Amino acid sequence: MSPCRFCEIINEPKKANEEVVFENEHFIVLLDKYRQTSIGGICLIVPKFELDEYEASEIINLISFIGKKMQEAYSARGIRVWTAINKEAGQSIFHCHIHLVPCSRFMDRLTAMIPGIYDILRRISKLNKSALNSERLFEYAEKIRIQINTN
Ligand SMILES: [Zn+2]
Repeated sequence: MSPCRFCEIINEPKKANEEVVFENEHFIVLLDKYRQTSIGGICLIVPKFELDEYEASEIINLISFIGKKMQEAYSARGIRVWTAINKEAGQSIFHCHIHLVPCSRFMDRLTAMIPGIYDILRRISKLNKSALNSERLFEYAEKIRIQINTN
């Protein structure tokens, strides 16, 4: 079985990886390369191991920590947190991941609630299609990394 994209990133030798905003021994936190809201990038919290190997509090604490840093980085009024288990629920990469979506407007909330619709809009809108180029991705990631490092 070929490894998934998240496993590839987790197992990559340490090199500058612009989409990784945070890493510890149990998790990596990446920016979603394909989606954004009106104010910033969407973070994906990706466990390195099977979920049942974790204490629930470890996951909750990381969601809270990254969520706060995103709020600071993007002046976000809110963060929406969601995940999907299996295709029927909308999972597309079959390695557990939790989405943290920075929200300030109704459209941001829509992005978080109905990602399938957002993906269709992105495909038909030239503006959004080119929105997450590598400079934008770096800018979004760097804003969060700065907040994490300045504590
Ligand atoms: Zn994987």
